[in-house]
Amino acid sequence: MDLANRIAHITGGGADGWAIYYRTRELEQAGEAVTNLTIGEHDIRTDPAILEAMHASALAGNTGYAFGPGNRDLREAIAARTQARTGVPTTWRNVVVTPGGQAALFATHMVLLDAGDRGLFCDPYYATYPGTIRATGALAVPVPTRPETAFQPDPAAIAERAAGAKTLLINTPNNPTGTVYSRATLEGIGQAVEDHDLWLISDEVYDSQVWAGSHLTPRALPGLAARTIVVGSMSKSHAMTGSRLGWVIAAEEVADAVTTLATNTTYGVPAFVQDAALFALRQGDGFEARIAEPFRRRRDIALRVLEGANRLRPIPAQGAIYLMLDIRATGLSGEAFALSLLEEERIAVMPGESFGEAAAGHIRIAMTVEDGAFEAALARLVAFADRAA
Ligand code: PMP
Repeated sequence: MDLANRIAHITGGGADGWAIYYRTRELEQAGEAVTNLTIGEHDIRTDPAILEAMHASALAGNTGYAFGPGNRDLREAIAARTQARTGVPTTWRNVVVTPGGQAALFATHMVLLDAGDRGLFCDPYYATYPGTIRATGALAVPVPTRPETAFQPDPAAIAERAAGAKTLLINTPNNPTGTVYSRATLEGIGQAVEDHDLWLISDEVYDSQVWAGSHLTPRALPGLAARTIVVGSMSKSHAMTGSRLGWVIAAEEVADAVTTLATNTTYGVPAFVQDAALFALRQGDGFEARIAEPFRRRRDIALRVLEGANRLRPIPAQGAIYLMLDIRATGLSGEAFALSLLEEERIAVMPGESFGEAAAGHIRIAMTVEDGAFEAALARLVAFADRAA
């Protein structure tokens, strides 16, 4: 008996970039203290008030099957948040609640791509992107971006690969680069997707974590709303990674297709989790700003410490909870740098190569440890880079 080819196809057989992760686990299990700057989640837990709301909802009896596309009140709240932030008219009919942003990415690609189609995504990329596209049976086609232009996507590079493609997946604010796409970049992308009649999938799960400039959704650009699908999530904005609550915002036809898929896969998100999310959204923008604040602070700390670095160049960190550092002046690959840093300094960072070829010679730092430990680790990292060879 064989497994489906699909599952081997998802990984694509490439390097998985998990060596650092496994080595870190090994060291930690052996009782060694490692400063772990690989983890893309908050160092705080979900606010107890949100958990109280979840508990109260469950006790009130919301433990049965939930409705496929999500509860109407939550869909309305997500639509209102979207419309208030972007100015794009959005109703509950445009919203489908999913078990996290990842499920939203998966569902969106599933309803837009057939086996044999081509799905584009920008390199460097969030780890699951190629696998998510390949899971549909489509070919995942990377569009390289360059450190020299702070990894802003180049519309010409998209246009070059657009022939025969059906979707383009973008991510702003970006994981792993910390780049926030400029209006000019988004307008160029908009032109490319219109010229080549592509769907545009915009992953905006870091929309409340912007440190420089402002977040712009391509859905708000003239003519783009109908072909743009936005993926959102409570994971990063509300420190609710484990609750698994995300969403798709799309034209009704696409939203309805995502609902059909949900009915046959996830069967929706538990109603008590939806009620907790509704409670969290009702805390307003101030709550999201408080969740984002530690990352803003640590970004300032990092940029100050890195001013003293000779061989490290930060990619302008405009948003999301990561910093990308160009380490090419050390002559090492990102992987070699990260492995030696772990062995010598017990600091774990992600090699750029694990996010695609375009990030070779870089490392990604997650700003997800407490300020003092973060600053001390960065100072040691700068000193390590000076002597690394
Ligand atoms: N997109 C990006 C860019 C991410 O970094 C993540 C999580 N690290 C996700 C989507 C998925 O997040 P979740 O499923 O928790 O919403």
